[in-house]
Amino acid sequence: MLHSALPGLADRVREAREYALSRGLLKYGAQGQVVHLPFTLTPWQAPERFVQQVHSLAGSFNRLYARVSHDHDFLRQTLEPAARTDEFVSRMLACLPEDPPGRPELFLTRNDFMPLQTPEGPSPRQVEINMIAASLGPASQKVNDLQRFLYREEDLGKRILPTRPGDEQIRVLVQAWRLFGDPQARILFVLPPGEKGVFDQLTLASALVLEHGVPMLRCTMEELGREGEIRAGDLWFRGRRVAMGYFRGGYAPAHYEGEASWNARRLLEASTAISVPSIPAQLANMKMVQGRLTSAEILRRYLPDSEAEAVAATFVAMAPPSEEVTWNGQRAPARELALAFPEDWVLKPQREGGGNNLYGQDMVHRLEAMRPAEDPAFILMEYIRPAAFHSVRLVENEPVEGLCLTEFGTFGAFLMEPGGLERPLVDEDLGYLLRTKDHQSREGLVIGGYAALDVLALEESTRCPGPGEGNPSAR
Ligand code: ADP
Ligand code: MG
Repeated sequence: MLHSALPGLADRVREAREYALSRGLLKYGAQGQVVHLPFTLTPWQAPERFVQQVHSLAGSFNRLYARVSHDHDFLRQTLEPAARTDEFVSRMLACLPEDPPGRPELFLTRNDFMPLQTPEGPSPRQVEINMIAASLGPASQKVNDLQRFLYREEDLGKRILPTRPGDEQIRVLVQAWRLFGDPQARILFVLPPGEKGVFDQLTLASALVLEHGVPMLRCTMEELGREGEIRAGDLWFRGRRVAMGYFRGGYAPAHYEGEASWNARRLLEASTAISVPSIPAQLANMKMVQGRLTSAEILRRYLPDSEAEAVAATFVAMAPPSEEVTWNGQRAPARELALAFPEDWVLKPQREGGGNNLYGQDMVHRLEAMRPAEDPAFILMEYIRPAAFHSVRLVENEPVEGLCLTEFGTFGAFLMEPGGLERPLVDEDLGYLLRTKDHQSREGLVIGGYAALDVLALEESTRCPGPGEGNPSAR
């Protein structure tokens, strides 16, 4: 073993690896073999202020996105220009129901931030919110347990901020399912073709069945679209009434293998089943909407001033290429700024799931080739630069040391009864996910192999409560 900054590396690697395998911290490797998920052996250390700030914003973001998803006129206005050249946006928009049935709504989200380095310390800047298939709750909980176990004899172990987003997501899924009021009705896990995050998803599914007696079925959108039918307003699938469709796919065009997949979305939208997410929620999640919300005037339509201000403080400059933005004291069309400072901007189409963003010269070429009609289907976003730190990751059984960057995601839940937008039953922060990657890597995917699951330890001067002293990440 090479000399390492981490004492006792060989022992820690063995123990961590065995722990990961024993607790199902797993993924499929390139050849279909089962391997452990990449994770770090050293926590990221941050001041408590950073955690508190993100935590204090959770409710505002929950309510913001729930309210935006109810403003169908705003969604149409914002997305119609993009729909003219982006077929996926156009097809999603066409599923927006004219007359939505009254039913409970559940939003299960993950809001991703990067810790921008400022003179006052790291300060959260929003990368994006994920309102569909927000994954890795159980995996984040397992890596949190893993590191607390690994450092059980050291002070560092006591400073790790505990989090249980997997358990919390299960609790909220059960609560929403109960609202449906039929103990025989199923939760459908709607999976993308060739689902890779199966271990994470099975942790949720098995707990629903074994610990809470919630019947669940798994299917693809094609299967649901072909075999599902609406009877007296309810959705039925394979002889079972459906209480909820919980999407783990459906965010990428490739997940829609045929027309039946679109039918699956329409069936859920038109029935009494809760759709997680609904079409309006998925539309509210689009990057063009995120760009619009950076306007103070628009943001204030959905949040009171003080909340709008705190939320806006996490936004960076963002706009369609032809629109003006203010950046570093300059005001100019985003395209001009991006062409003049290519290292300071990211070009994003409306896609989810990673691997779609363009940086540097790739961004420049795409901007130069862009037809004016395509402009509203893209968004330019200021590039966020967090401070690099030293980290040790375990990737396919091998420790990898080096400078890293991290992303802090906070899981959220918002549950409401029909008409209960302003009186939610659940409006919570469910815990966090930390993803740490090589400082030169630009993507954030864990299952895709770019990033490692990580854990947050409070800096020495800002120690968190230990086990049994309360969990600041869950309300
Ligand atoms: P997707 O919806 O495909 O996941 P994201 O907007 O989350 O797309 O971007 C994917 C990854 O790219 C992020 O997890 C982050 O690592 C990186 N990234 C995205 N936007 C920025 C940005 N403005 N500054 C720095 N990195 C970014
Ligand atoms: Mg996304």
